[in-house]
Amino acid sequence: MRSPAAHPRHVIADWAAPSQWRAANNTAEGTASALDLRQGVVAVARWHNWAGNAESRPTRILTPRSVDEVVSAVQAAAARELPVRMVGAGHSCSPAAVTSGVMLTSDGMVGVEQVSDTEVRVLPGTTVDQLCRELDSLGLALPAVGDIRAETVAGAALTAQHGSGRQTPSLTAGIQALELVLADGDVVTVAAAQDGDLFQAAKAGLGGFGVVTSLTLATVPTYLLHARTFPDRFENTVSTFDDWDSDHDMVEFDWYPHTDRTVVRQFDRSAGPVAHVGRSRRWPSGPIRSFATAGGVARLGRSLPPAVPGLNRLSAAAQPPGDTTDRWWRVLPTAPKVRFVELEYALPRPMLRPALTMVRRAIEDGPERVTLPVLVRTGPAEDAWLAPAEGRATVYICLRVFHRSPYQRYFDTAEAVLTELEARPRLGTAQSLGAERLASRYPRFADVQRVRNRVDPDRRFGNDYLARVLGDGA
Ligand SMILES: Cc1cc2nc3c(=O)[nH]c(=O)nc-3n(C[C@H](O)[C@H](O)[C@H](O)COP(=O)(O)OP(=O)(O)OC[C@H]3O[C@@H](n4cnc5c(N)ncnc54)[C@H](O)[C@@H]3O)c2cc1C
Repeated sequence: MRSPAAHPRHVIADWAAPSQWRAANNTAEGTASALDLRQGVVAVARWHNWAGNAESRPTRILTPRSVDEVVSAVQAAAARELPVRMVGAGHSCSPAAVTSGVMLTSDGMVGVEQVSDTEVRVLPGTTVDQLCRELDSLGLALPAVGDIRAETVAGAALTAQHGSGRQTPSLTAGIQALELVLADGDVVTVAAAQDGDLFQAAKAGLGGFGVVTSLTLATVPTYLLHARTFPDRFENTVSTFDDWDSDHDMVEFDWYPHTDRTVVRQFDRSAGPVAHVGRSRRWPSGPIRSFATAGGVARLGRSLPPAVPGLNRLSAAAQPPGDTTDRWWRVLPTAPKVRFVELEYALPRPMLRPALTMVRRAIEDGPERVTLPVLVRTGPAEDAWLAPAEGRATVYICLRVFHRSPYQRYFDTAEAVLTELEARPRLGTAQSLGAERLASRYPRFADVQRVRNRVDPDRRFGNDYLARVLGDGA
């Protein structure tokens, strides 16, 4: 093992001292926008997630900076019969982190603790970006990351964050061990051979089984990635996708609703050199590209729905085609540069064409005019019991809506189609299913409930969302 990286010092979490309540969180968006400590005022701290579709008024917001401080916070909450949730960067578009009790932020627990040639042990509040950079500097890499790196490692892993590729698993699949503070204050390390049931339940378990105080993740030697981006048409993309998926390390595409336009991205490991080629003169540049990629289309489309098909064609055209070779973690992030709410469903891999065709039809027939693309990715079968890819090779269909636009009717329309097709919602997104319907989609659901009843019978780590999706009293 190499020597641990230095950990930044943070404010001590002290239950008794109101002056040490958190006033803001460096990683979560908008945490604690109002704190009022006047006598007699109890719960006034406010938190909302990045997308703004989940809000919380915790009784306390604390920032522990050690396992012992997490244990104290959990025990103090238990003594007051308050629930506890730890939050990461707030990028989950679900209310999974919401609590009326004690909210723990993870930005007091940041850094890499131990590294070997095949594994890294990392503290929960470390961002994916920090981890990528640190690993790269040591000649190491994660197998893949999603399309941004602002999330915390714990938040991303506990919600099964994934990229694309038939052999590219989610961050969750790379977890070798988890250190957890349980509801009774016990600190345990779980792994496949060490309370394997708790390990498989907790890995993509939204923090519903304990507070994660460190994660051990598998690493691979660092690598360069070549990305090729090009525009295409829906029919050709869908027909050719299987060939691309076999020929390339990773492939994904955006389909622009109300048009037949797609933008395809293929990624392959490369011997280098680092190079950025592309952006032919035919493509919109400067202000037009900025307008299309930085929220202009989303804003204009919101007030001018009939213009959306044309605006979406412009958006698709504004994605620069070309070839890039760079460090793996610099090449992968491709998320739209606007704030959005997202809904993602996972289907058996062979369902890509029928599912997408049905979703497309439902969108075209529906009343909504959608300005952000539908993102299609793949992934291999995984073993975490709450991972959407549990037990089957998967295609992910991800719908995103500009955060100021209404999204519920659009998501309802898509869910109505997808739930007919053996699809599993990704629990960390704005999905609407409850435990009863999830039980028929996640084969190990009863085992998840059994483990939860064992480790957290009083639902210390519960909230309304977990009650809905995991089913309380089960
Ligand atoms: C712009 C954007 C791009 C995205 N791109 C992708 C993508 O490409 N691929 C993909 O798969 N997803 C993507 N997502 C989804 C995102 O990766 C996940 O939702 C992830 O949860 C975010 O991590 P976070 O640190 O923000 O976690 P949070 O949202 O803060 O928390 C997520 C859950 O984990 C729990 N939690 C967090 N830390 C702990 C802890 N230490 N102990 C116990 N529980 C904890 C929280 O209570 C909550 O239930 C994207 C989201 C956004 C907003």
